[in-house]
Amino acid sequence: MCELCERYGDGYKPWYHNPYCFCRPLYRRKKNIHGENTLEGRYGAFPPEERDVIDYTREAIKAKLEDFARYPELRDASSHYSRINAGGQVLTLEEALKMVEIAWPMELQGCRCRRWYEGIEERCKEDYTCMGLTPGSFKNGKWPEMFRGGQVFVTPEDAKQWVLRMNAEGFIHVTGTVGDPPKLYGLCACDYPTCIGPRQLRDYGITRMTPGHYVAVIDPEKCDGCGTCVIRCQFGALTRMAKQKKAYINMYRCMGCGLCRDTCPTGALRMEPRENFPALVEQWPRYNQV
Ligand code: SF4
Ligand code: SF4
Repeated sequence: MCELCERYGDGYKPWYHNPYCFCRPLYRRKKNIHGENTLEGRYGAFPPEERDVIDYTREAIKAKLEDFARYPELRDASSHYSRINAGGQVLTLEEALKMVEIAWPMELQGCRCRRWYEGIEERCKEDYTCMGLTPGSFKNGKWPEMFRGGQVFVTPEDAKQWVLRMNAEGFIHVTGTVGDPPKLYGLCACDYPTCIGPRQLRDYGITRMTPGHYVAVIDPEKCDGCGTCVIRCQFGALTRMAKQKKAYINMYRCMGCGLCRDTCPTGALRMEPRENFPALVEQWPRYNQV
């Protein structure tokens, strides 16, 4: 079982369908982001454990390029602190739809990853690629410097339509979590290379994102080698074998988003529980592992 389910499921599986993980008391921890609005100003305002994330991540990226002997240790430390402080777990479409049935309230907002890394400002409901969940969303309107594009509260039906649209456009559904125990504050629509989770994973091996509860499996008899799934996969888990004219999946890289399955025109892909594959369960990052 995924360690997050072991620790926070409390009878629910997966843990992010446990209503307690959405509740208001988990919003106790406060961050001072009202300091000087510069990178250094914000850095200084972060609580000490978040400074660990920044320090270890910066050092891990640097070590990969300049001092490879130190890289594995720094990468693992960055992964550990990143998961605890602002991690996320990959979801299938069905799991994401279930989350918006549980959470209340829900609001759409501009994505901060896209603003910080690509300079993309999302300013209206049709453009937003981030969903805030639970009462913490009421605070977001009070942080104009953080949520520049504004926010729009949505109905459960609107929220489902947004999830379906994000899925059709090829975004990965990821839980937005902060703290330990993790509070579920959002539902992200991520993609590589813009978003921090997939980018750190693919470029630097930092497992800020926890793999989902499923993995994709191919039925080669049904695959006609069209390659649609290869384009769809944001994690580099799929390739097309030129000679055989079939898709090949590296299951160790599969994060379980299900986007390939959702676009396969022949129904050759299915999602199976990760627990069915002992080697993949072993690889599941342990929440407390440094
Ligand atoms: S999308 Fe489906 S049919 Fe096309 S290559 Fe992938 S598995 Fe095969
Ligand atoms: S192989 Fe499919 S399910 Fe796995 S990460 Fe890629 S797109 Fe997602």
